[in-house]
Amino acid sequence: MKKRKRPPARKNYKKTWKLGQKEFNTQYFDINKDGELMIREGNYQYNVYDLAKKFGSAVEIFLPSILEERLSTLFRTVALNTKRLSYKGKFTYHFPMKVNQNKEFMLPLVSEGAHLECASANDLWIVKKLWEGENFHSKIKVLCNGPKTEQYIALIKKLREAGLTIIPIIEDAEELKLFKGFNGDLGIRINLQSKVKSHWDKKIDRFGLMLDEILELGKIRNLKILHYHIGSQIQVENDMIVALREAFNAYKKIREINPTLDTINIGGGFAIPYEKKKMYSVESVIYRTMKSLKDMSDKAAIPHPNIIVEWGRHITAPAQITVYRIVAAKPIHGASVAKQWYIIDGSFMNDLLDTWAIHQKWHITPVNNMDAKHRHRVWLAGLSCDSDDKYAASDGYLLLPALEDLEEGEAQYIAIFDTGAYQDAFSSHHCLLSSPAKIVLQNGIVTVARRRETPDDVGKLFGW
Ligand SMILES: *Cc1c(COP(=O)(O)O)cnc(C)c1O
Repeated sequence: MKKRKRPPARKNYKKTWKLGQKEFNTQYFDINKDGELMIREGNYQYNVYDLAKKFGSAVEIFLPSILEERLSTLFRTVALNTKRLSYKGKFTYHFPMKVNQNKEFMLPLVSEGAHLECASANDLWIVKKLWEGENFHSKIKVLCNGPKTEQYIALIKKLREAGLTIIPIIEDAEELKLFKGFNGDLGIRINLQSKVKSHWDKKIDRFGLMLDEILELGKIRNLKILHYHIGSQIQVENDMIVALREAFNAYKKIREINPTLDTINIGGGFAIPYEKKKMYSVESVIYRTMKSLKDMSDKAAIPHPNIIVEWGRHITAPAQITVYRIVAAKPIHGASVAKQWYIIDGSFMNDLLDTWAIHQKWHITPVNNMDAKHRHRVWLAGLSCDSDDKYAASDGYLLLPALEDLEEGEAQYIAIFDTGAYQDAFSSHHCLLSSPAKIVLQNGIVTVARRRETPDDVGKLFGW
């Protein structure tokens, strides 16, 4: 075999591909001397190129240790500020299940101290399974958001009777009537007027009640939590604090009628630096949140509220990457800058649906040949026959290794970062393509959580 030529002067490829940087959540990634992507987990390391060849592609690679580290960083930051600010309220993290309901994601989170937030009766059915399997401690708390269908309410009541701490969050005035006689704690969701810079900042949305509507309800038995959720992937840190101030003012007013109210749930929204540009930090947002709440409640002479956080993508997205092989290349006709299509052995529309739905941008690097001498300006395309199944970075193209330089028998693989939030539940089967396999890396051991779907598996979904 011919030895692949190395470029004469070794550049800092780690920097080129934005790896090893904590502010980008890439501190777990490195490049070995052969130009291959490495993942570090404590003293263990994994070669992604070897994994892709061994387990096949498309493959999702998940590291529970990253989830655990992110959650413990959040808890540590809160503990530090509780002390620093003499904050008297308690802090609880509730994992919003809709972000990733996979068992291998949820179990490590729960064992590290996460409580749960459900969006549907089926989410809650998973909680029931965990509860019956004694897979979590008896002190776990579950919040129930989303429209309360009959089936959902029945399960809430059943689990409450079984001794689970379960708190429905009331989303409209009619819903409150459905919980008449419910003797557990309740929460209520407020529709704030504060707007944030985010894809989900809709001028008009349907979630929660206006402050006036809540006040009109008068006294609500066992009202404990005031909840809001103002959007996902919030771009500007200060927007979160502005919303918090508005929520606190509402909290103060509602509390006058409902003295049982003692908790503010700030929902989700903490953003991920998908494009590896500098963003706000947990340290800063937690400090500002706790400081604002302390100052405002001291001024109003009321106790510091308990705080609930439901940051979903912040905790889960960086814990997974998705790896594809480039199966073909062809010239792009008519584009001004990009020169070649690289076709992957998977699909953006199926496996990473946000690419299509909300024009999500990802950080993408080669898995091998990260030190390639020649790179091309490319667009990526999926295996489906759909013209929407494609991806270009926000620069209009990606710079990826030239396939001409590959050795005989060598394939080019790429890694898409931060794929641990939302994509799995959105995934679909356009053109009946198989979903990626999933492997879990933990304590130096690789296990297969999901093998790649066979034609039979996919056919069954459609009654064949
Ligand atoms: C979706 C959702 C979250 C999680 O949002 P992220 O942007 O992923 O942090 C939290 N709370 C509620 C009520 C949600 O609907």
